[in-house]
Amino acid sequence: MTQEHATRVQEHIGDPVSARAPLERTKLEEIFQDIQSDLRFDHQLNGCLNCGICTATCPSAHYYDYSPREIVQLLWTENLEGIYDAMQEKIWACAQCYTCAARCPFGNSPGGLVMLMREVAIKHGMESAKNVLRPFSRVMLKLISTGNQLSPDMISRDAFPDWGPNVSKVDAPLDTLRKAIPVPTLHTTKTAWEVNLKTSVELYTIWEETGVTNSLKTIDPNLFDVIQDIMDDKRDEYSDWQEAQGED
Ligand code: SF4
Ligand code: SF4
Repeated sequence: MTQEHATRVQEHIGDPVSARAPLERTKLEEIFQDIQSDLRFDHQLNGCLNCGICTATCPSAHYYDYSPREIVQLLWTENLEGIYDAMQEKIWACAQCYTCAARCPFGNSPGGLVMLMREVAIKHGMESAKNVLRPFSRVMLKLISTGNQLSPDMISRDAFPDWGPNVSKVDAPLDTLRKAIPVPTLHTTKTAWEVNLKTSVELYTIWEETGVTNSLKTIDPNLFDVIQDIMDDKRDEYSDWQEAQGED
């Protein structure tokens, strides 16, 4: 919407979309090309009746200014500006529950298409992707370096205020509680379970080969550096271990 046709609200608070410098057409085409050329795209978008069943069953549509029908229509009609605008905020409202995919009479997967758009937003280092992922840097560090998403020592009153009074239950002596679990690999508080050195090193290869580490470099270079150091140390440790075992 242009400023000449601004609503009363936009006259007071401005219009972040219209106020933004327009993106060159070639860049918009490049972004769409990245979405469309993904192998999953043709499996997830077969056409669209614009029936709205996906939006009617979408939990996120009930709470946010978000509609999977709108997202699918933007992609189906190749509305490049609309796709780019949706990638600034709306795509991050999806909960990835895939109720839409189960209900769409055309066999589309709006949630899957949103996932593709998110990956492309990350690839292009969009500000929206950086803002959404910033609060999760500690989780990303843990996940990429150990394969664990959360560890017991990350659960605290401060980190999870929305847990309400129940969070006091995790204030118990964690070391003692974990050692009481009969499974020895769970006797750790820095990871959810003990991760074998070989498994960690194999995991790093997967992150690299699937482009996860490169995506991280675009989104958060500092976190990338920290994780790279951890990976190098673990790989050295694994080589030393192999040498000690007389392996190649
Ligand atoms: S349910 Fe399927 S066909 Fe209907 S609007 Fe959503 S994506 Fe389009
Ligand atoms: S996957 Fe996303 S778009 Fe689909 S129903 Fe769930 S929240 Fe809505």
